[in-house]
Amino acid sequence: MKSGPTVRGTVIRIDAGQSLVDTPAGVLRCVPRGRLASDRPTSKRKDSRSQSPAEPTLAVGDHVAVVVLEDGRGAIEDVEPRRTKLSRRAVGSGKREQIVAANVDQLVIVASLASPPPSLNLIDRYLVAAGRGGLQPVICINKIDLAVVPAELAADLAPYEELGYPVHWTSAATGEGIPALRDRLRGVMSVLAGKSGVGKSALLTAVEPGLELHSAPISAATGKGRHTTSFSSLLRLSGGGYVIDTPGIREYTLWELDPSDLDSHFPEIARFAAECRFSNCAHRHEPGCAVKAAAADGRIPARRFASYTRIRNGLEDEALE
Ligand code: GDP
Ligand code: ZN
Repeated sequence: MKSGPTVRGTVIRIDAGQSLVDTPAGVLRCVPRGRLASDRPTSKRKDSRSQSPAEPTLAVGDHVAVVVLEDGRGAIEDVEPRRTKLSRRAVGSGKREQIVAANVDQLVIVASLASPPPSLNLIDRYLVAAGRGGLQPVICINKIDLAVVPAELAADLAPYEELGYPVHWTSAATGEGIPALRDRLRGVMSVLAGKSGVGKSALLTAVEPGLELHSAPISAATGKGRHTTSFSSLLRLSGGGYVIDTPGIREYTLWELDPSDLDSHFPEIARFAAECRFSNCAHRHEPGCAVKAAAADGRIPARRFASYTRIRNGLEDEALE
């Protein structure tokens, strides 16, 4: 078949054997070609030839070069190196990494003021995950129409802005804070993460009325059913940029972070860790621990230090599994 020009595009969805690629020539249904066709993930038997799990050839968010075919489809010729990748543990297969999306710029961590109440520890976990993946985190506290912001919550969140994590206060119900959130999403690739029910879908619809969210409401009972196909899709925003709306990402957790690397994801802790007597200090019972001293007198917010300890304990338990 004769082929036309090569265009650059972004993979917005992957289904068995083919993918949808958003290009200046429109959204093209594409098949892989050449190098990409030969190592496309297929059967398990084929995988088992190599011991290390092969990096999936294509992920949602990949920037690709596509040759436009005569019949209007496209052939993916090449994939650009990934700037960032978002991964999680594959469902039910131990510690295998699964790439949820490539080239995501921003992790929008959504919590709600009430129903459900915000969990700052969960926010901290997502902050670490974002840092590990090279994503800029943004914190969004939604449902501000439901209650007056408690002074304690405002005080707990103030340090985040100082650390360079923007905080948005929104209501998908009244529209408050939505224009600022829309600006924050413009022109970049974002993913929204947070507990079920905090309003991620409602926020996306408020930011972009008419956006086609494909996911059905999630219930705990159906949790088992949502696998690969449900999370591989990107939505294009009319002002530019993309958002991943996925049930899969909601389970996004840390994937194999070495406990000793945790410090670097808590900037206010890393600053003091350099002064600990032992370079491998875990900031628990070690003598001469500058971090514990700083947490004790408030130079490190006590709540952040508690969060750090919880996450670190969890990582150490995981490492023993
Ligand atoms: P998701 O699971 O994070 O996608 O949450 P949804 O977008 O499905 O929202 C969960 C529930 O919260 C729905 O009943 C929404 O109508 C409601 N909701 C979402 N945002 C707001 C908000 O800003 N204010 C209020 N009062 N309710 C909201
Ligand atoms: Zn220490």
